[in-house]
Amino acid sequence: MLDLSKTLPTMRSAGARSSGPARAFEASFALVNVDTSGRVIFADPKFCALLGLGGGDDPAGRAFRDVAPGTALPGAGPVPAGFASILTDAEGREHSVAWTFTGPNGFVGLIATDASADARSAFTLDELTGLPNRAALIPAFGAMLERGSMPDTAHVAACLDLDRFKRVNDSLGHAAGDELLRKVAKRLSGSIRPSDVVLRMGGDEFTILFANCRPELVESLATRIIDVISRSFVVHGHQVSVGTSVGLAILQPGETDVADLLRRADVALYQSKNAGRGRFSWFEEGMLAALNERRLLETELRKALLLDQFELAYQAQFDFGTDSVSGFEALIRWRHPVRGLVSPAAFIPIAEETREILKIGAWVLEQACRMAMTWPAGITVAVNVSPVQFEAEGFVESVRAALTASGLPPTRLELELTESVLLTNDDLVIERMHALRDLGVRLSLDDFGTGYSSLNYLRKYPFNKVKIDQSFVREPFADENAHHIVTAVAGLGASMGMTVIAEGVETEEQLDRIRGQGCSAAQGYLLSRPIPAADIATYLAASSTRER
Ligand code: C2E
Ligand code: MG
Ligand code: MG
Repeated sequence: MLDLSKTLPTMRSAGARSSGPARAFEASFALVNVDTSGRVIFADPKFCALLGLGGGDDPAGRAFRDVAPGTALPGAGPVPAGFASILTDAEGREHSVAWTFTGPNGFVGLIATDASADARSAFTLDELTGLPNRAALIPAFGAMLERGSMPDTAHVAACLDLDRFKRVNDSLGHAAGDELLRKVAKRLSGSIRPSDVVLRMGGDEFTILFANCRPELVESLATRIIDVISRSFVVHGHQVSVGTSVGLAILQPGETDVADLLRRADVALYQSKNAGRGRFSWFEEGMLAALNERRLLETELRKALLLDQFELAYQAQFDFGTDSVSGFEALIRWRHPVRGLVSPAAFIPIAEETREILKIGAWVLEQACRMAMTWPAGITVAVNVSPVQFEAEGFVESVRAALTASGLPPTRLELELTESVLLTNDDLVIERMHALRDLGVRLSLDDFGTGYSSLNYLRKYPFNKVKIDQSFVREPFADENAHHIVTAVAGLGASMGMTVIAEGVETEEQLDRIRGQGCSAAQGYLLSRPIPAADIATYLAASSTRER
């Protein structure tokens, strides 16, 4: 029969050396042996217990797929790289199965079965979530090292934190933030194997240690975590959505410093966030250079306001009803002494992360209102508002202040919000939108069609205008889906008295098409590129001549 000491040397020695807190983590494996035709040759008592098979119910001789329905077997030969197999136990918990091909004896499947609750009790716990805390990191890491290594697996650290957590905390208060963290901790614990440890490092930061895990399985667990955390939570009666990004790093052979391991996972986390959040990344050497570059940009961005490096360009919005320019959208530019003109797409996300956007956004508002006062009455100015800015305390006040300082009638100011504003705390969002509408300010939903974009948003939130994203305008006419969406939004918008404007119109053909689809206004390079403030008077004069 199978010689375990040859197949799995490290597993056996690991247990023998364990002591102290590590003992609680001592690897305890359930074992099953399946022949190449898929029949169980042998199952140990732990395996039977896991599946709730009673004393007389020896699975030997039965088909594995009947014993453990849904658990994948590797096939007929050596286990393919990337093969992942999950076993669901009698209580519905999922465990990963590490399969090893042994030749004539078929496959041996090992399932780590440590009782995580017992294991956790050996560590100092975080009072809020009940998870092991930062002080438990060293012992948990030590325990992982003591388990030794298994073939085709690695010890992996994951760093993660919550996207938009601060927004929940700011808008619903700390007690709600605490409740959210407890719920997140619960979902995290439920998403990993019992042999993995999740620790709360502080704030909304968590670390997971995956002991002896195939990298492919780590990836599928990371994907699962991202998925479960992105589902909405009910906190203090409010429905809130956060998300998470994950950074992963592999423990190198001989490496014993957990701080180094976590630093790499942290850099990978940074990369995940930069790449757009809601994803995982493995650490790669090149990321360090990228991180330094980013830090430099953050520092320079902090100084840019003082150094007067920002300016606004204005892009005309054209109304089909009056056949004339109805307003301009203010678009920020960063004139950097070395990098040249930096696009907002490159620096706004950084400014949001560092919250520098609060100061920058206030500057844009003031500047744009003041500029609009120099235009003919009736011409509006649209200002883009970041979600961070919208949710910050005192936003409504800052809008009022910009209006008062410039003397601009509120009806000439339009605030462009993106859908991500609508995804956090509904009550606060709706209340704030109404406060702005009460001021007399107009609200517009920017980039419609790029996110979850539900037509329901148009009913639920008090918008005056919806901006159909450029991607829809540029879809070839043949794309029926885009056509139907634009027509539906235009129809619904019109029936609710909203302006429906199409963005990114570059050709006459696109202009004709969106007009035919029922849009009431257009914006795009065809009508005007974003132009400097100084050119607006000339542009308006020229366009009114054209109209005549
Ligand atoms: P957005 O608000 O959707 O603005 C439209 C973007 O599309 C602008 O890019 C504009 O220059 C570009 N665009 C307009 N017409 C056309 C066209 O016909 N073809 C093409 N290819 N592009 C067109 P820009 O200025 O680079 O701004 C990008 C985004 O940065 C904006 O998207 C907005 O979300 C953000 N942004 C710009 N200014 C500010 C600001 O002051 N505050 C905040 N929070 N975000 C800003
Ligand atoms: Mg916009
Ligand atoms: Mg847009």
